[in-house]
Amino acid sequence: MSGNVAKVAGVEVSTDHWINGRRVSSKERFANFSPVDGSHLADVAAAGKAEVDEAVAAARKAFPAWAALGPKGRLPYLKRFAEGIRARAAELAAVETMDNGSLLLGNQHRVVPRAAQNIEFFADWALTLEGHSIEGAEVINHVKYDPSGVAALITPWNAPLMLTTWKVGPALAAGNTIVVKPPEWAPLTCSLMADIAHAAGIPAGVLNVVQGIGEVAGDALVNHPDLDRISFTGSTDTAKIIGQAAARSITPMSSELGGKSPFIVCADADLDAAAQTVAGQYMNAGQVCLAGTRILVEKSIEEPFLEKVRSAASHMVVGDPRDKDTRVGPLIHPEHFERVAGFVERAKKDGAVPLWGGSRANLGELYFQPTLFAHVSPELEIAQREVFGPVLTWQTFSSDDEVVETANNTRYGLAGTLFSRNEARAMNIASKVVAGTLWVNCFFVRDLAAPFGGSRDSGIGREGGSWSFDFYSDIKNISVRKGSFA
Ligand code: NAD
Repeated sequence: MSGNVAKVAGVEVSTDHWINGRRVSSKERFANFSPVDGSHLADVAAAGKAEVDEAVAAARKAFPAWAALGPKGRLPYLKRFAEGIRARAAELAAVETMDNGSLLLGNQHRVVPRAAQNIEFFADWALTLEGHSIEGAEVINHVKYDPSGVAALITPWNAPLMLTTWKVGPALAAGNTIVVKPPEWAPLTCSLMADIAHAAGIPAGVLNVVQGIGEVAGDALVNHPDLDRISFTGSTDTAKIIGQAAARSITPMSSELGGKSPFIVCADADLDAAAQTVAGQYMNAGQVCLAGTRILVEKSIEEPFLEKVRSAASHMVVGDPRDKDTRVGPLIHPEHFERVAGFVERAKKDGAVPLWGGSRANLGELYFQPTLFAHVSPELEIAQREVFGPVLTWQTFSSDDEVVETANNTRYGLAGTLFSRNEARAMNIASKVVAGTLWVNCFFVRDLAAPFGGSRDSGIGREGGSWSFDFYSDIKNISVRKGSFA
């Protein structure tokens, strides 16, 4: 491997950008540390405007040929890309764990297979969008999903490989060329992804990766005048900044943002299953956008249910994410740790009471105990703001109207979870909670064909299945007068 390389978990990872089919370095570099043990992993090339300009120019140049291939022509490239991800599954999982502290077992069994699926699924789905027409009285409307051009894809650190491929798959399948800006706290699997795309024969310039700091490289990218799409996953605050750049150039932008999702447990629920699932919200130290962090429990079962949750939560072992028994790994970064600890301290001052946890785990700088706060009134900061750590709140309700009101009482609307055995009741509550996804008697199941996204401060737009192509395509109607051809 040429250029600057780091060895992480025994895997050689380029620390340079990937632009126009080759590795490109930068004078500026940023240090990348592992949250697992604090070790220095790499000094990663930090792009400025020049590297971003080079990447967008390469993507623009590669666009016509990639677009002209059509969905069938792109299919073999993307299938090989997905196969390449599967072939390097063990390496990708190990590097992701060291880079962002997510559980190794989860990366091996869920994240990496899903990353491959993200590429393959959308490559197949693109075929289904061809030849669609709507017959009117005078005309036949031929609906075409044309590639839109160059797409900027910006992703966060909590699941970089999964969330980046969730954008890369449909963007490339739709015929766009792309510039990826991975998260600065966990950029390494996106670098491996570039190698895999190259090995799959994806032509130079079609997939580019520019690494760097959000306020510098990300800012240069979203302000570039030659973009056709901006797809962003990250925090609501950053989306507001990027949205201003997108508005200035009228570049369509999709946003998948934060959440403060309700987890509703009705008295008629399977309480054992619900308690296990509540404890599961601590997974990856709660650094999961979809986590149901506000536990809303029907008053009549509060006591027995709390005991079940206490027992389930006691099995959420905090530790090294490479250990198969660990369920709660580290927080990503000292800055993020301070943020989470700050929320917890302010919640205590506000009168919320930790039933368990509430401080650093006795393991290392970045490990925090799974925490549950009771005595939480709905207006408290801890019930309103996204903590993005292993911190849940506990509230009760006495009627369906009350739980709907409490569930909807934040600025967010990403997801929600509901446990009940009463179908009519469950569907009634589910239909009234404001959320892009509402799980009933399950959690985290995401079919790639289904719409995904957030309401309110949790995002703009939906992706998944055809919704992804609605965003990544220029949809054109060729409207032909009936009987007008000789
Ligand atoms: P963040 O907003 O700080 O950063 C996300 C990305 O944006 C990073 O790559 C960063 O470098 C870049 N960035 C930062 N400032 C920028 C700027 N001015 N211009 C352009 N790019 C910029 O978010 P984070 O801390 O990395 O991620 C955590 C957040 O992401 C949480 O709020 C979480 O809920 C959310 N998230 C949402 C989803 C979803 O699907 N809805 C999934 C995962 C994470």
